[in-house]
Amino acid sequence: MKLERAFRIKPGKKVKLGHYDPGETFGYEKSSKMHATLQKDIARLDELQYVLYAENRRALLVVLQAVDTAGKDGTIRHVMAGMNPQSCKVASFKAPSAEEAEHDFLWRIHRAVPGRGEVGIFNRSYYEDVLVVRVHNLVPQAVWSKRYDQINSFERFLTQNHVRIVKLFLHISKEEQKRRLEKRLDDPTRQWKLSPADFRERQYWDDYQRAYEDALTRCNTEEAPWYIIPANKKWFRNLAVCQILVHALEEMKMNFPKPTIDLSQIKLK
Ligand code: AMP
Ligand code: MG
Repeated sequence: MKLERAFRIKPGKKVKLGHYDPGETFGYEKSSKMHATLQKDIARLDELQYVLYAENRRALLVVLQAVDTAGKDGTIRHVMAGMNPQSCKVASFKAPSAEEAEHDFLWRIHRAVPGRGEVGIFNRSYYEDVLVVRVHNLVPQAVWSKRYDQINSFERFLTQNHVRIVKLFLHISKEEQKRRLEKRLDDPTRQWKLSPADFRERQYWDDYQRAYEDALTRCNTEEAPWYIIPANKKWFRNLAVCQILVHALEEMKMNFPKPTIDLSQIKLK
């Protein structure tokens, strides 16, 4: 199965989220076979990450965006489980601290960008600055509306500086979010995850969908593409994310560096 193409949005396409089924599985069903496929993909991801690290020339940046409960944390836990923590780092972006708020919105982001040889995962990102910030008018429209171009420039800059960017939007339905919130309310092992914001933000569901549509439309380039992942089914979401990352790393055509020593001269006694 090749899922990568199915989820990549063509640059220039105007995104209407209503046209994307969050429950889509392309006819596949949850099964032990699917589980085996995922395990194989996770193992492949680990191999590729090892070459990225050895090569030490480029970085992979994975931007994860979604509404609350859509599975950002779960994706990180499942898909990245196979990666070597030594060269994989996760950065989570919350409301800016007092110091961060004193700077431009990309200041805190830039320093969290993965270095050569690393995989970096952004759990939320600079896209919040055209999402939550726009939905709640945290800055005037005149300010946030310029950020789409600023983001495109920033992403182009990173791409030209050895950072491969993959952006994933985990797409769930409003009903699925309700189910997940109910489950969290009922389950003592999940109640800790709940925050007042989850219930508050849900009231702005439509505003968020519109804000996402604009971000997915206006900041979707050949070099830093967006993917819309059907995420109502967690097992399918994991498969899709894994395959997209495998594809991205394979496309980078990485190689192990040549040995820095003359192997023929080495004599071990
Ligand atoms: P969580 O991911 O559940 O830990 O929540 C983090 C919260 O921080 C979310 O409600 C985000 O909307 C919020 N957040 C992230 N970035 C920003 C930002 N730039 N401005 C305001 N709020 C933000
Ligand atoms: Mg949350």
